[in-house]
Amino acid sequence: MNPAQQEPLEELPSPSRDRSWIEINFENLIHNARVLQDAMPSGCCLMAVVKANGYGHGAIEISHCLNNAGVTAFAVATLEEGIQLRQAGIQGLILVLGYTPVNKASLLHRYRLTQTLIDDEYAWALNKQGFPLSVHMKIDTGMHRLGIPWDHPNQAISLFSLKNLSICGIYTHLAAADSPSLSDIAFTKEQIRRFYILTDEIQNSGIPLPKLHIQSSYGLLNYPYLHCDYVRAGIALYGVSSAVPSSTLLKLDLRPVLALKSRVILLRNVHSGESVGYSRAFVAARDSRIAILPLGYADGLPRSYGDGAGIVEIKGQNFPIVGRICMDQLAVDVTNGPHIALGDVATILSERPESLLSASLAAAKAGTISNELLSRLGKRLPVLKSSL
Ligand SMILES: *Cc1c(COP(=O)(O)O)cnc(C)c1O
Repeated sequence: MNPAQQEPLEELPSPSRDRSWIEINFENLIHNARVLQDAMPSGCCLMAVVKANGYGHGAIEISHCLNNAGVTAFAVATLEEGIQLRQAGIQGLILVLGYTPVNKASLLHRYRLTQTLIDDEYAWALNKQGFPLSVHMKIDTGMHRLGIPWDHPNQAISLFSLKNLSICGIYTHLAAADSPSLSDIAFTKEQIRRFYILTDEIQNSGIPLPKLHIQSSYGLLNYPYLHCDYVRAGIALYGVSSAVPSSTLLKLDLRPVLALKSRVILLRNVHSGESVGYSRAFVAARDSRIAILPLGYADGLPRSYGDGAGIVEIKGQNFPIVGRICMDQLAVDVTNGPHIALGDVATILSERPESLLSASLAAAKAGTISNELLSRLGKRLPVLKSSL
């Protein structure tokens, strides 16, 4: 037997800046939370959306920072995400936006999570589990995803009689709040009108209204005048726009919170006519100097960001990503940077606003939106505090 097999497992090395990593600028996060809060009408509170590991930023670290800065409402997508926050000591409202199996009601109760009622049948089934629960009722006003139909007020009203469910909120979600097109604006206004028709019906039936919320990031940025109890802000809190160009009614000074960095681990010269990487997709048109970065699509960088679409910054200079992005590596053409050296830090996504390396621009070049790009950043990347 190989003696090495009998040795106890060594501990994993602690997170470091050796390979590729995420840097979080907590000052920018707090700044964004303040700017968003100040943009809301008085009485309205920020609900920080920290689903999908805080859009790739690290849900626990982000929530702790915001909790310490006075944010007392959070939203997650799943039961497990909510439990993780409670176990990490996050205080205040934690709303589960998505579906939780009703047979997990005891966990919702134990961790004091507030569950979304995704429709009428779900509410009755959840009530039957026998655990007293806080819930928010979701209303479908046109998104046609989750929610009780806005034009079935009796369905909504009857849920207030369920013994185990304490309905602390009613909300809806806008389908096209980011769009400047006139028909989308008309659609959004109709969604808002429908929501208030329903809440009026509830109120007129003698039920005092609980907390109301409608807007996510673009709902606030384009319809800032709505008087709600919460704004559920995700992408704006992280300081990036979903897509470019982004023209919104409110123009807020929001600052990117995340940077994605890597390191030059290898430099090689290739002759004119030689190819680099899979499928020989990049063929050097001149004698070239290629830097290899240990970052790939398994880390969440979209494969479609390769082949000249993407850029990285090294020592203040931009260089193109060439050839296919691999699962764990990518190649950068640094021929124009003879001073680039082994160990240099490369920035793939920058926290500087208006940068060519912004998440929204990178996402656009990769054929997606920043929400997807950020939330898919991989578990393999350590999340570290910005060293700036
Ligand atoms: C994800 C989500 C949000 C946050 O959306 P952003 O556009 O990132 O602000 C708000 N509400 C619901 C229901 C969501 O699913």
